[in-house]
Amino acid sequence: MKGIAILGSTGSIGRSTLEIIRMHPGRFRVVSLAAGNNIALLKRQIEEFKPAYVSVLAEKAALRLKRSLKRPPEIGFGIEGAKIAASCAGAHMAVSAISGAAGLLPTLAAIRAGKDIALANKETLVMAGAFVMKEVERAGVRLLPVDSEHSALFQAMAGHRRVDVRRIILTASGGPFLKTRMERLKDVTPEQALRHPRWDMGKKITVDSATLMNKGFEVIEARWLFDMPLDGISVFIHPQSIVHSMVEFVDGSVVAELGSADMKGPIAYALSWPERIDAGVERLDFRGLKLEFLAPPAKRFPCLALARHALKAGGACPAALNAADEVAVEAFLKRKLRFTDIYRVLARVLERASSAS
Ligand code: NDP
Repeated sequence: MKGIAILGSTGSIGRSTLEIIRMHPGRFRVVSLAAGNNIALLKRQIEEFKPAYVSVLAEKAALRLKRSLKRPPEIGFGIEGAKIAASCAGAHMAVSAISGAAGLLPTLAAIRAGKDIALANKETLVMAGAFVMKEVERAGVRLLPVDSEHSALFQAMAGHRRVDVRRIILTASGGPFLKTRMERLKDVTPEQALRHPRWDMGKKITVDSATLMNKGFEVIEARWLFDMPLDGISVFIHPQSIVHSMVEFVDGSVVAELGSADMKGPIAYALSWPERIDAGVERLDFRGLKLEFLAPPAKRFPCLALARHALKAGGACPAALNAADEVAVEAFLKRKLRFTDIYRVLARVLERASSAS
């Protein structure tokens, strides 16, 4: 039985992870759960999966949760609680799926405690890629990608020599505004931005998919995960989201991973690697399947280039970009910022961070 710690168990990735674990009761055991504020859902998860340790964001919620359970597990709170959940004895792997910068320290705690990591929290590598990869090497643990694009790249590289890779190609759906008239973009609402045409995800990453900032962060993630120079990473819009990403080799061959747009696929692969298990993912129907690819239009998606600028500028620039994006997206969701102003805020913060570093 593989012991699993789930950081962000009440989120989109966390819930999908638990669905897979539910499908394979003889294979995985939930050792610990860390969540934020969704205590009602966490309570149901505790009752079903009986973890030894759980953590929530606030102390008061931890007390309330404890009182509401007949046989409560040990319950912690705050960042320290999430770090304990990440490093619990009995866990072989931690699924890193807290959203945003808050995911970094619990993920580091899991690495340092010798846990393999199923990494959904791309912010960990965006903010501190070089440092985290060194910690991974020092601890001798495996960092298995959950992001569907990076899982695809990881699968496409399997069995090949790293030196034979010429280029990696990340695909992007283009989000809900791929064809929206440019002059309308300034007026799009949070509801429209949250209606992603292909993927069902948390709010932050869904808005990032609409600006393509998410793809920019994925470029940074790929740079560290695969030790790939920036000029070896390309991005193409692929509206069908069937090809999850591709690797081009020096002989001109391209190896791609295809599948339905369902995060349970890459999550299951990270959990069971190097084996494969049923994840309940719909099989591809090839009849009439169309696969289109186009270069991302720079004017429509200016956020994409910011990630490359941040990586080239180095220092704290990627972390500053990530922090600015968390604040700007939240402001957009609260209708305090226009959609097109997200880029303006990020560009200004990045400019200041670059001149300071
Ligand atoms: P959600 O918003 O759906 O879930 C976030 C989870 O993190 C929730 O469990 C939330 O708790 C918890 N959380 C938030 N802040 C804290 C905190 N300070 N301490 C403890 N727990 C916290 O996000 P997603 O599942 O969509 O995304 C999670 C991560 O995975 C992100 O980094 C995202 O970029 C990445 N990712 C997601 C994909 C997807 O398909 N969803 C695809 C690829 C990557 P609560 O809800 O209880 O408040």
